Amino acid sequence: MLGVIGGSGFYSFFGDDARRVQCDTPYGAPSAPITIGTVGGHEVAFLPRHGEGHEYSAHTVPYRANMWALRALGVRRILAPCAVGSLTPDLPPGAVVVPDQLVDRTRDRADTYFDDGGVHVEFADPYCPTLRTVVTGLPDVVDGGTMVVIQGPRFSTRAESQWFAAAGFRLVNMTGYPESVLARELEMCYAAVALVTDLDAGVDVGSGVKVVDVFAEFQKNIEPFKALVHQAIEQIDEERTCTHCLPHEGIQLPFELP
Ligand SMILES: [Zn+2]
Repeated sequence: MLGVIGGSGFYSFFGDDARRVQCDTPYGAPSAPITIGTVGGHEVAFLPRHGEGHEYSAHTVPYRANMWALRALGVRRILAPCAVGSLTPDLPPGAVVVPDQLVDRTRDRADTYFDDGGVHVEFADPYCPTLRTVVTGLPDVVDGGTMVVIQGPRFSTRAESQWFAAAGFRLVNMTGYPESVLARELEMCYAAVALVTDLDAGVDVGSGVKVVDVFAEFQKNIEPFKALVHQAIEQIDEERTCTHCLPHEGIQLPFELP
């Protein structure tokens, strides 16, 4: 089964024929009931990251419960649409980018299932190469870029933003971590698909992030963005062939994966 974790604006993903599943996990309930429907011949489980009424802020999303619940339902490959700020004028609002690297600037988020047992996960390449290839093969999708994940819920200061840009990071976001590493710990393929909603404060032509502008830009692009995610799903192979996202081969885990 495929999973889609929808960000802001993704409160629904299917028509009326989908079914809803209430889930519980050792880490509590996920952000919302998970909806299961069919897209392009795939069974797809959809979870709105921030809850059905956007009740969870980026730093309070129950990430561990979300990823565990998806895995327990049988999900092994996940597309994760998200809203991002751009740190470069090359990526204007409306651009869709598939990041290839991630920098974690969050704090105090529960970001592992392996509190016991000394298990370390390989994370040099945080995104699934197979899923990335599928999405970057679609027209007008930008391939690559480092996404820095900030704690939020505030936006960056100009100095922070200029610092990130000077370091070569191209996108800034608040939810891409720990979602991606938890997917890897649970041996699920995961690729972020980022929709640029604004130019961040430190970008020369940007004037600082205004919340109202972010939402307006999002509204304008959300339907085409959803259509693109549908298109990507249609292109995903029926069978999972990726071996990159299976880091625990031969390792004794302290518990069985769900
Ligand atoms: Zn993979």
